[in-house]
Amino acid sequence: MVRNIGIPNLLPPPKECNDRKCPWHGKLSIRGKLFEGIVVSDKSSKTVVVEWIRYHYLPKYERYEKRKSRVMAHNPECINAKMGDKVIIGECRPLSRGKKFVVLQVVGHGNR
Ligand SMILES: [Zn+2]
Repeated sequence: MVRNIGIPNLLPPPKECNDRKCPWHGKLSIRGKLFEGIVVSDKSSKTVVVEWIRYHYLPKYERYEKRKSRVMAHNPECINAKMGDKVIIGECRPLSRGKKFVVLQVVGHGNR
């Protein structure tokens, strides 16, 4: 029983959960942007902090500078991303103050 979340090339998690805020088994719809990042904190329950590097162009120097983006994302039980994992997150409705992303898939494990 896995929903079609409307994004091709993503694999549903092997487990199931009863989380309403799960895009695969709940009622959460994904719209907006997708990002790939690394989990830098898994301390709070069902929430992870995901960080990724982006390059910002500076026309004056004709070079790119490194910048970091960092957001909180919902971490459903069926996905259960851990610190250091490489994950794909999708934008969704605001789930709480400051949380409007959800982890869709773990694509790589870090050193646990
Ligand atoms: Zn789930």
